[in-house]
Amino acid sequence: MKNIISDPLKFAALVAHQLKGPMASIGTILQTIQGEFAGPISQKQKDLLTRAIASCDESLVTAQRLLSISRAFNEPSAFKSQVEISSIVRKSSASFNEQAEKNNITLTVKINIEPAYAIGNEAAITEMLEAVLSNAIKYTPDNGQIELILLYNEPMKMFEIHVSDSGVGIAEENREKVFIPFFRTAGARASARPGTGLGLAFVKAIVEASGGNVHIEKSHLGGTEIIINLLSAEKSVHAGEVETKKPPMKVVIIGGVAAGPKTAAKIMRLVPDADVTIVEKGRLLSYAGCGLPYYISGAVKEQRELMSSPAGVVRDPIFFQQVKNVHLLNQTEAVEIDRKNKRVRVKHLIDNLHSLLDYDKLVIATGSEPIKPVVEGIRLGNIFTLHGVSDAEGIKAALERGKARDVVIVGGGLIGIEMTEALVRKGCRVTILECLPQIFRLLDVEMSMLVENQLESHGVRVMTNTCVEKFQGDDNVKSVVTNNGTYPADMVIIAVGNRPNVELAKLAGLEIGQTGAIKVNSQMQTSDENIYAAGDCVENVEMITQKPFYLPLGSTANKQGRIAAINICGGNASFSSILGTVACKVFDYNVALTGLTEFAARKAGFDVVTVLVPAPDREHFVAGAALVMLKLVVDKNTRRLLGAQAIGSGHTDKRIDVAATSICTKMTVDQIANLDLCYAPPYAPVIDNIITAANVARNKLDG
Ligand code: FAD
Repeated sequence: MKNIISDPLKFAALVAHQLKGPMASIGTILQTIQGEFAGPISQKQKDLLTRAIASCDESLVTAQRLLSISRAFNEPSAFKSQVEISSIVRKSSASFNEQAEKNNITLTVKINIEPAYAIGNEAAITEMLEAVLSNAIKYTPDNGQIELILLYNEPMKMFEIHVSDSGVGIAEENREKVFIPFFRTAGARASARPGTGLGLAFVKAIVEASGGNVHIEKSHLGGTEIIINLLSAEKSVHAGEVETKKPPMKVVIIGGVAAGPKTAAKIMRLVPDADVTIVEKGRLLSYAGCGLPYYISGAVKEQRELMSSPAGVVRDPIFFQQVKNVHLLNQTEAVEIDRKNKRVRVKHLIDNLHSLLDYDKLVIATGSEPIKPVVEGIRLGNIFTLHGVSDAEGIKAALERGKARDVVIVGGGLIGIEMTEALVRKGCRVTILECLPQIFRLLDVEMSMLVENQLESHGVRVMTNTCVEKFQGDDNVKSVVTNNGTYPADMVIIAVGNRPNVELAKLAGLEIGQTGAIKVNSQMQTSDENIYAAGDCVENVEMITQKPFYLPLGSTANKQGRIAAINICGGNASFSSILGTVACKVFDYNVALTGLTEFAARKAGFDVVTVLVPAPDREHFVAGAALVMLKLVVDKNTRRLLGAQAIGSGHTDKRIDVAATSICTKMTVDQIANLDLCYAPPYAPVIDNIITAANVARNKLDG
């Protein structure tokens, strides 16, 4: 202890280390309270918490910087690996695009050399550059300019990074002093901007530990120009100065909603120094698409709730960078995969500039997109699909303008039905138009009739065998013309299904399956061993028939992302097939299903016995006991369960989850009848619904 106290830097690092954990916990707790996960709070309390969270974040940054400075002095060898600097420049600048845009600052990036291998530590150089850019944004007034240039100084064999701004500038006499820890110029102290005076000390420590140098000049833009010189790895290798460490594994993930972020998070857990970049063409990421109907109905109040972790932390680019250590390029579209050189060409949608990202492993998680029928009038106003948050915002805005009284939903599948309830709750008159003879075709026809009755009992008009021919209106839609009459419509929601996003994969020559989705093996590997795919863009195998199957589900996307990550990191995990287990709320009914319907089982060649057993979901004398109608589909020859469907106000999901488990383990109805399931009056009848249904099936099988 004596030694540590006599070394101020080590002592500061020890204090920083001790404070970091508690500060992080305090931050998480404050965010939990602010997100109202611990009960409702007033707007004023929320505003105060915003300030407390910002102070907490700032303290964490200070602690982190002290630790990095101490490490740079005490362990310089950790800063002498080889890094590819052009991609760091690109990623770091991309993470400031949004902030620059918000402040109306023009952020220009010029990269004159690519790839550019320099000496340094990837995480430290990234953090250092972000500190410089963050300062530039902080001290540049709105409507100003920032320029970031990377070039190679051939005679010196050094890379130069220039960060210039049109801000307040630093007086000549202070240009050395600003690198001293905790020094702040009078101007910085007088400004309203927060700061600790550690930013440039941290920058200098990292750059010098990497063998480079940094200095400040007056910028041609009027403010400050920071010039960072980093040693070229080539020169240093020749001089024998560099420890030749294996560079971190580079993973590029295309798609940032469910499968993509899941893959990234798991990779970082398995290989913490992996260099993972998510490329997402939208602005928002990692949101719960499944929650969109509830956001539209108002059951979910704020958009941020769809993007929050259970602790209430919003998963935005800063969260991915700081908490998960994953680079995030949002508003960036992957436009081409160069398999030979293992590169992805991306287009930054804000400035339309293109750049290249190298990868060791690539993950395609491009998801799916709603199908739009090609009919006259499809481009009229107030015709929506529902896939992302921006679609939901469009629908919400149209509802708030009070313009949508008559709403037509085209398609009686899962999304159409979930939207029906949301819109009825918003006071709309809803008509569902379905081209097929039944809605909800994941169910057998008699079960779908129960759903239809439930919808009709809430005032919804359900029109089956009704196909859209055209949409009519002026600017906005006014009516929908079908083979079965014309329906008034102030708003139309198209929900006729999704198609996998496979254009990139197709262009790259990857194998596409029979269903039109990307073909993968059980390791989630595509036909290129360095390219994985997961989520809505991939083809699945149906577990019972072992046939190709396409059913895009969030549950599957997340599981597949995890499997892909394990295999990318050298593990051996497999994802073999799916049953298509689904749950859906339809007003007072809970609908759930798994495996084959009777129709699908017969079509697949099975000789089946079916039973339909209505019973309460718990003891009838308990308050809240409600009906469950449970249908089982059983193979006559093997007595194995092939599928189950449950509808009612009671707990259907519990029975269907047991059925799904039974099908996965190839159980017969005889084995299901002997399952040891929970029983107490508030939870189940003394013989659970699924056991009763299995017994009825056994009776039928035994004649
Ligand atoms: P997506 O969510 O489609 O995300 C893919 C992302 O990739 C998109 O953001 C897209 O912008 C991006 N992208 C595509 N191409 C590129 C490119 N070239 N460059 C950069 N980015 C690109 N599932 C359930 O299991 N249960 C439910 O209850 C449920 N309810 C749902 C309700 C609604 C209204 C909706 C819309 C979906 C629902 N789902 C549900 C389905 C679930 O949301 C999806 O299965 C899940 O989001 C799929 O995740 P993904 O990451 O594979 O694809």
